[in-house]
Amino acid sequence: KSAGKSTWRLYQAERDASREMMNRLTWNERIQKALENDGFVLYFQGIYEAATRQVSHLEALVRMKDPNNPNQIVPPGHFIPHAEKSGKILDIDRWVIRQAIRMLADNRTMPSVAINISGRSFDETGLPDYIGELLAQYRVPPSRLMVELTETAAVSDMRDAQRFIEALRDTGCTVCLDDFGAGFSSFAYLKHLKAHVLKIDGLFIRDLPNDHDSQVFVRGMAGMARDMGKQTVAEFVENEETLRMLVDFGVDMVQGYYLDKPTPDHPALRGINVVTRDH
Ligand code: C2E
Ligand code: MG
Ligand code: MG
Ligand code: MG
Repeated sequence: KSAGKSTWRLYQAERDASREMMNRLTWNERIQKALENDGFVLYFQGIYEAATRQVSHLEALVRMKDPNNPNQIVPPGHFIPHAEKSGKILDIDRWVIRQAIRMLADNRTMPSVAINISGRSFDETGLPDYIGELLAQYRVPPSRLMVELTETAAVSDMRDAQRFIEALRDTGCTVCLDDFGAGFSSFAYLKHLKAHVLKIDGLFIRDLPNDHDSQVFVRGMAGMARDMGKQTVAEFVENEETLRMLVDFGVDMVQGYYLDKPTPDHPALRGINVVTRDH
């Protein structure tokens, strides 16, 4: 009976392992296909000046088209972890960079765009050059591109992150630490990561009106960033009360469902040519 049980366990473990491999193969194939066949699409969410509620710029958020169902969109939470594991994230990040820069080139009056770069790319020393060369080739002023880096990922390899940020700054684009405060010792690390903008993690914003600790943290963050000459953004702003509190705390910019949801046809892009094809 006990032999039967452990055999069963072994079988189960093997089956789990092979299922895991199948899943990974499937995701790798899907990601590769999407890279080859125009299978990604950018959604845009507004980032607003907190005080005036005017659009400051747009954040580009990548989605995958579902090959089996054209009306279905796969959120980044589903494929980015796989892409980070396989290294395909580098190709996705480059695709997003090209899309954003071409779009900015084709539409000289649209708002600036923020893109996300995975912490997995920090040891890709060629990536800042890639961005700099595309900006020059398309004659897009670097100030129109903002690059968001996830702080938790940055902290896991400080040296690489530091070099990466410096190289990005040299291209002239604006560097933003995304999900700020979600990692350990964020304040100490600020000394080394020379970003222009801090995006305070949604964790502290979600429940702001009811959470005294978050209020202390956000107020402190905003004050410290101001004294350091950096700007702040709050993500996950979901109601009026939170927005008012953020203005009161001196947070510069806000983003969240209360203002708008990510969409492929953002109102700030009306009449604008959103390139979707690699050319
Ligand atoms: P993120 O950069 O922190 O983006 C914010 C996420 O929060 C987005 O999810 C956005 O849709 C969501 N969000 C914004 N406002 C609200 C709100 O008020 N309430 C709630 N509940 N959610 C809100 P999304 O688009 O699913 O993206 C998830 C993450 O995937 C992003 O987090 C970013 O880390 C990553 N990601 C997205 N696009 C890219 C990309 O092009 N490249 C890379 N490397 N990562 C990306
Ligand atoms: Mg972001
Ligand atoms: Mg974020
Ligand atoms: Mg986040």
